[in-house]
Amino acid sequence: MSNHSFLARSMSAVWHPCTQMKHHETLPLIPIQRGQGVWLYDFNGACYLDAVSSWWVNLFGHCNPYINRAITLQLEQLEHVMLAGFTHEPVVQLSERLAQLAPKGLGHCFYASDGASAIEIALKISVHYWRNNNQSQKTSFISLQGSYHGETLGALSVTDMALFKDAYRALIKQNATVPSPDWRNAEPGESAQDYALRCAEQLEAHLQQNHHHIAAFIVEPLVQGAAGMVMYHPAYLARARALCNQYHVHFIADEIAVGMGRTGTMFASEQAQKFFVSETGENISPDFLCLSKGLSGGYLPLSVVLATDAIYQAFYADRLSQGFLHSHSYTGNPLACRAALATLELFEHNDVLSSNRQKTIYLNRIAQPLRDHPRVKNFRNTGMIWAFEVECATDQFAQRCFSLALQHGLLLRPIGNTVYFMPPYVITEPEMEILVTHTIAIMDAIS
Ligand SMILES: *Cc1c(COP(=O)(O)O)cnc(C)c1O
Repeated sequence: MSNHSFLARSMSAVWHPCTQMKHHETLPLIPIQRGQGVWLYDFNGACYLDAVSSWWVNLFGHCNPYINRAITLQLEQLEHVMLAGFTHEPVVQLSERLAQLAPKGLGHCFYASDGASAIEIALKISVHYWRNNNQSQKTSFISLQGSYHGETLGALSVTDMALFKDAYRALIKQNATVPSPDWRNAEPGESAQDYALRCAEQLEAHLQQNHHHIAAFIVEPLVQGAAGMVMYHPAYLARARALCNQYHVHFIADEIAVGMGRTGTMFASEQAQKFFVSETGENISPDFLCLSKGLSGGYLPLSVVLATDAIYQAFYADRLSQGFLHSHSYTGNPLACRAALATLELFEHNDVLSSNRQKTIYLNRIAQPLRDHPRVKNFRNTGMIWAFEVECATDQFAQRCFSLALQHGLLLRPIGNTVYFMPPYVITEPEMEILVTHTIAIMDAIS
């Protein structure tokens, strides 16, 4: 089979995601044959360091033997059974494990197969909760400017990205946005924390005016991924949580990208807790926690919404219509749950969060010349995410950088002028050196 005819077949038979297909007339698709650790191998034997964890999903490398084995064992036992009226061991184990790990109070797991569906579920439960509590006027949401929560219609209504949204405005409910606490917008001399708290004042003003019809505030904790790895101070989350308590608005933590250890703690929301000025008995956890992407280690489509007992109880009744009657065919798929359980076991067995802390220190150290590069601005890091803007004359930076990176054996996928690293956690020191030195070479070469 020639490479050429294979690519032509993929061009016509497959409609690729997030892609203007015509661009592939000049920018060929990369056919991947196999993966191993951080490396992807194409049909010609070239390899690419997967510095974006294949769209932020892979945590422990491609073809991880431990996860492979867990899925294989499950496959011999039960591939799938519907989760309405039935249950199975992997979904019970996973739900109990997640509830133990999550911020306090999030004990009820509702499953779906992708991130956007988890967002739909959180939005629907929130509105339905208020309806069950005789507050059916609470049907609006607030999100941050530049937010990304997925691309189904409900999720798009809380996503603030014109490129993904404009064509569908007629189908989408209008929801408000408030300023992002993005520290790059702080005044000279203003700390990231002070700026975050100043932004929270605008959230407060909005809640004060509109809380009667607002069901929930939804946020990507610590890092707004799709906006270009926008980073902000955790004090914002603590303040926003307190405001949501005060104004009776749910707090939805969308940790689809940042959960599962990505920001240095198992869940990004944990980092807000030390900034919370506690008044007795107040809720300092989110009301909803949404996970997907890394949840199954990057193996199988799986997402989950963890909800509090107060929310769960509002649906627990004799009347059918008071229940949450949402479903997906593959809800709680046993193979995906096994992949997630194996992923959580790897965190535990290998003390991954502390070994990641060492990796973060190491990469920050060797990245000093990159940080000092004349084209590089706003070099920043949160846990296992790094990002920086590149000053470059071309308006096709993202595509040029992507192509040049492939020539240097790296899979980088810039967002506009922002280059980011979000590598699998199994990346080694020599691999981090390859990542940094080749990125510097790309910065030197690009124009
Ligand atoms: C990727 C992502 C989603 C959507 O997940 P899909 O599985 O792509 O539908 C939602 N929220 C955030 C923060 C994400 O990064």
